[in-house]
Amino acid sequence: MLFGAVETGGTKIIAAVLDENRELLDSIRFSTGTPDEAVQMLADFFTEKKVCAIGIGSFGPVDINQDSENYGMVLDTPKKGWRNYPFLSELKKRIEVPMLIDTDVNCACLGEITYGAAKNLKNVIYITIGTGVGVGVCIEGETLKGMLHPEAGHILLRKHPDDEFKGICPYHSDCFEGLASGPAIAARTNTPAELISADSKIWDIEADYIAQGITNYILTYSPCKIILGGGVMEQPHLFPLIRSKVSSYMNGYINTKQMNSLDDYIVPAGLLGKQGIIGAYCLARKAFYMEEAD
Ligand code: ADP
Ligand code: ZN
Repeated sequence: MLFGAVETGGTKIIAAVLDENRELLDSIRFSTGTPDEAVQMLADFFTEKKVCAIGIGSFGPVDINQDSENYGMVLDTPKKGWRNYPFLSELKKRIEVPMLIDTDVNCACLGEITYGAAKNLKNVIYITIGTGVGVGVCIEGETLKGMLHPEAGHILLRKHPDDEFKGICPYHSDCFEGLASGPAIAARTNTPAELISADSKIWDIEADYIAQGITNYILTYSPCKIILGGGVMEQPHLFPLIRSKVSSYMNGYINTKQMNSLDDYIVPAGLLGKQGIIGAYCLARKAFYMEEAD
């Protein structure tokens, strides 16, 4: 049996076919373009591969409430042609297999609790620091949905005293994403984040914002593990800095086994960049076995 997994991003879309044992058999990637083109490419690819179900991790905002009549619709995005596009139902018109959709970061979190760094844990958060800042949340083994879905990359933080940068979020200027995303680092320094040396003081500011975000998530979601991914987290020296700042922000307030071993609590993704697509695979399996049970 073969399962289809899709990750849609602002610039590119990845589609993969995996078997029962999570073996990757084939994949394609193409630039995001118009939604009609994307849906056709996906339908052609998956029809040819004869997948039995499809899981999708989508950029947001997207309707992920399975009871909604707009389930799988891309919502208020600036991305041309995609606003209010009924992505899931358009794909269903072209290929009739069970499908589930969730946010890209919820999928990454699901992938990590199923096969990755948080295997066998049920309450976990996944934070990506990349082109944006996004947070996926699993509660009791299920991704968190609610009114829309978490948008925890846009929480408001205290400004670092040495940071004069005003932030780049078009909605909030200096929210977490506005201050700490890859493009925010580049705008603050006029240098792409990947070219900034490890001893630059910019990383202290960056780690401070990430640690503030994590402190807020620990206090609100009580996660059993915190996983960090995304391009900016390719800087390994950020991890010890972040852990030490989380410890000072928390100031002993929560005294659990996890808080006393932050090296095991705040960790990089276990699925090495594949967490999104593996999470989408988990959704495809879920879609298939749900349908079987009906
Ligand atoms: P996306 O968020 O679009 O899925 P990424 O997670 O790769 O993609 O994030 C891209 C951002 O991460 C860019 O702003 C880029 O400058 C930054 N980035 C990529 N690699 C590194 C690196 N090694 N160190 C620091 N920043 C990086
Ligand atoms: Zn914002």
